[in-house]
Amino acid sequence: MADNQSDLVILGGGSGGYACALRASQLGLSVTLIEGAELGGTCLHRGCIPTKALLHSAEVADTARESEAFGIEATLTGINMPKVLEYKSGVISRLYKGLQGLVKSRGVNYVQGWGKLTSPTTVDVDGTTYTGKSVVLGTGSYARSIPGLEIGGRILTSDEALELAEVPGSAIVLGGGVIGVEFASIWNSFGAEVTIIEALPRLVANEDEACSKALERAFRKRGITAKTGIKFASATQDDQGVHVTLEDGSTLDADYLLVAIGRGPKTDGLGFEQVGVAMDRGFVTVDENLQTSVPGVYAVGDIVPGLQLAHRGFAQGIFLAEHLADQSPAPIIESGIPRVTYCDPEVASVGLTEAQAKAQYGESAIKSIEYNLGGNGKSQILGTAGFVKLVALDNGQVVGVHLVGARVGELIGEGELIVNWEADADDVANLIHAHPSQSEAIGEAHLALAGKPLHAHA
Ligand SMILES: Cc1cc2nc3c(=O)[nH]c(=O)nc-3n(C[C@H](O)[C@H](O)[C@H](O)COP(=O)(O)OP(=O)(O)OC[C@H]3O[C@@H](n4cnc5c(N)ncnc54)[C@H](O)[C@@H]3O)c2cc1C
Repeated sequence: MADNQSDLVILGGGSGGYACALRASQLGLSVTLIEGAELGGTCLHRGCIPTKALLHSAEVADTARESEAFGIEATLTGINMPKVLEYKSGVISRLYKGLQGLVKSRGVNYVQGWGKLTSPTTVDVDGTTYTGKSVVLGTGSYARSIPGLEIGGRILTSDEALELAEVPGSAIVLGGGVIGVEFASIWNSFGAEVTIIEALPRLVANEDEACSKALERAFRKRGITAKTGIKFASATQDDQGVHVTLEDGSTLDADYLLVAIGRGPKTDGLGFEQVGVAMDRGFVTVDENLQTSVPGVYAVGDIVPGLQLAHRGFAQGIFLAEHLADQSPAPIIESGIPRVTYCDPEVASVGLTEAQAKAQYGESAIKSIEYNLGGNGKSQILGTAGFVKLVALDNGQVVGVHLVGARVGELIGEGELIVNWEADADDVANLIHAHPSQSEAIGEAHLALAGKPLHAHA
């Protein structure tokens, strides 16, 4: 095919777009991938990876600060923020190089430039038209702000917060969702005084209520203030700092204000509506095969309503490539996608919350159990509190796994297998978990659910 014609034209080289490109080329389809900024998108450059690098630096700081409790005589003398940023950039640039190499080696036609959809089969980049038998939209998302609240100076979104070359003495975090609590956790570990403002009644409100309560308790212990159920009214800034007023009239001052109230779809002015792509509040709506209202035009990632997570984007990209290559891939079930909030302690979950399960199956058809990490040897060694909560149907099938505690994000892979393979408590109770490991807590929770608890009171 000519250079400007391919089986697939993909607009946006983030998690969704590049995963689709890599899988499609693996399946023998010719692919043009158009990216205006940097291959890898939000996740690699301004999202998952940089935040987790900062969280790791934060963990090192906490370990040094608390070393005495473990009999180690170390002193935390300071946080060298430029050095932290250098470490973070090093991680990104290694992954970025690797990804660029992958895209090249798979024979993807990579086009650097901002594209616009001009018809169901064409994308224009600076006057050059790229034609595809199918077009995939994967233009991602941006950090939203409140109307009238201008970003700049001391008022930041996660984009600016990731580049901040100093540790704030104090910070107000507007929004107690995933991004807000992760930054609150980082800055607190670095020594800042942090206040979170959340309009909903609890932090990480999409999680099971028990997880929110445990996180709020842990944050309180760490000295992070969470003001929940209260709305932001306005903010001003001057040389001294930011001054925030809440709807109840109370005021707060800090060095910085982080606006972390969610992410909007990047779909404005890209020709989608003109071509007839149906939208819902800026998001692109799709059918079960990720096809938009326009035949041959598909969408993946954050612009599709649902969980805004990188691994959902990867999964959708792979699904779509396989679908277009007539491989009949299994549909993606949104509730089977694992979710991790990487603050300290971590919150990880997959499947239904207790409230969702009760709404779906009826109150009496659901049982739940919490196994406290107090009984888990490895968690005691690490000095972390938390729990494993299982939500199950009365026939024993586990429909939700919810975890709180240091490092539990690494455990959710097992939770994912349990929920997505529709395992029963008995199935998992029979599996042996290595001792002492945090994964044992998952085994113990299933032993308890199966009616034979070991390190737990019956
Ligand atoms: C601070 C933060 C932390 C996060 N942490 C996590 C985490 O720990 N785990 C997790 O799973 N998710 C996390 N996310 C979410 C994750 O980053 C997104 O879900 C993911 O990046 C979405 O992928 P995407 O492909 O839809 O969009 P994006 O990654 O946003 O990529 C879209 C790409 O399209 C390009 N583009 C847009 N318009 C055009 C155009 N007209 N022409 C050409 N190119 C265009 C953009 O430049 C961009 O590179 C985090 C997000 C943030 C902001």
